[in-house]
Amino acid sequence: MTLHYGSLYWPTTWPNPPRYPRLSGSGSFDVLIVGGGVSGALCGLTLSRSGIEAALIERNAVASGSSSSNTGLLQYSNDIMLCKLAEQIGERDAVVFYKACKASVEHLAQVAQSLPREVGFKRRSSFYFASSKDDVPELRREFEMLDKHGFGAEWWDEADIAAAFPFRKAAAIVTHGDAEMNPFRFVTSVIEEAVRHGLKVYEHTPMLALEGENGRFVVRTGEGDIRAKRVVLAVGYAPETAGSDWVLGKAVMNRSYAIVTKPAASLADWHQRFMLWETARPYLYIRTTDDGRIVAGGLDEPLRRPVLSEADLRQRSLRLLAEIGRLFPDLRPELEYEWCATFTESADHLPILGEDPARPGVHYIFVYGGNGSVYSNIAAQLIRDSLIGEPNPIAPIVRAHRTSRQAAVRH
Ligand SMILES: Cc1cc2nc3c(=O)[nH]c(=O)nc-3n(C[C@H](O)[C@H](O)[C@H](O)COP(=O)(O)OP(=O)(O)OC[C@H]3O[C@@H](n4cnc5c(N)ncnc54)[C@H](O)[C@@H]3O)c2cc1C
Repeated sequence: MTLHYGSLYWPTTWPNPPRYPRLSGSGSFDVLIVGGGVSGALCGLTLSRSGIEAALIERNAVASGSSSSNTGLLQYSNDIMLCKLAEQIGERDAVVFYKACKASVEHLAQVAQSLPREVGFKRRSSFYFASSKDDVPELRREFEMLDKHGFGAEWWDEADIAAAFPFRKAAAIVTHGDAEMNPFRFVTSVIEEAVRHGLKVYEHTPMLALEGENGRFVVRTGEGDIRAKRVVLAVGYAPETAGSDWVLGKAVMNRSYAIVTKPAASLADWHQRFMLWETARPYLYIRTTDDGRIVAGGLDEPLRRPVLSEADLRQRSLRLLAEIGRLFPDLRPELEYEWCATFTESADHLPILGEDPARPGVHYIFVYGGNGSVYSNIAAQLIRDSLIGEPNPIAPIVRAHRTSRQAAVRH
């Protein structure tokens, strides 16, 4: 299944990453992780650092799925605002979830720092602006909710914004403690580090079938069978490749667009390199890179399959370029990389994580939504806690088979 089309920027920053063998013969492990994206990588690192024997299989190459089309924003604010999430699941759980996302960004900073390679990780603040004046009352409600629960957000009015940026917007929330990264370098380095801690990695090794039950699973790969006590399915936006078709009923599959420009002559107009996004849905978001490029994304369309023609892609890329120009008229950015990719959200805007109560020993990491990397890290902790018998307050909020009442509410 094609997950992306076009020219991806991130893999160009590490042309010869480590490669791993194909599984030949059979194997036996305590935990088998299926999928070598950010979800599988962080799970593999967390388990191997905790001394849990694990292996990871990837049907292609590691970091070749959605994680390489990721634009690398790490934010604790979600696609669904805290005030809306509170209406959906109750204020207490909504705050627990938002705090877990904030803690996850902190933890990702520690992970990035512990890696032997540079992964483009930089702490940044986020700037969430009102796309129109009509959105200001709800934005203000969101600010008050964040403020009430001690997230340390700031309210910027029109004058504050005009003093910091060359564009005018009616209002914005500025949140601190977020970050940006290079997702390809991050995933590849995390796997490299996990291998150093004992994770076994096999590329070009698909899971063709999962058989058995708790404590006695057999994964068929075509080349050989893998026996495992637990299986973690971290297969991204193609759950049906791992027999998890039920997830499709809880997911909304779209396609999204992203561009990366050539390095800009000057980003002096860009206040503290804030990561910008907006209240409109679908939203535009833009960030910068270490070497002065601009990354912009958005224009989601309700189709799962990416566009497969250069002309169709270019039409959207030029729209994203024009959006940058509207915000920063003096920048005149030049397009260098452009892609379209499948982008999946869950119907209730929460990830689907944890052990399947109907199939003990099978764990899911479906990090659907714009905060996938933040969720992946939460998932890794959750699975580690479940394996060592520690309770985790997030588990009931993100559990796989949650009620339809939750899943039915849209924002
Ligand atoms: C355009 C775009 C921009 C985004 N921007 C952001 C952002 O700024 N911040 C953010 O946090 N998130 C962002 N996301 C979301 C993020 O990319 C995803 O949440 C994340 O990459 C999902 O990671 P994953 O490991 O679950 O999936 P993947 O990276 O797709 O990894 C899953 C892997 O499983 C493998 N696999 C599948 N089936 C099998 C099988 N049967 N056997 C073996 N292997 C298998 C696949 O080959 C794949 O490599 C963005 C997504 C898109 C498309």
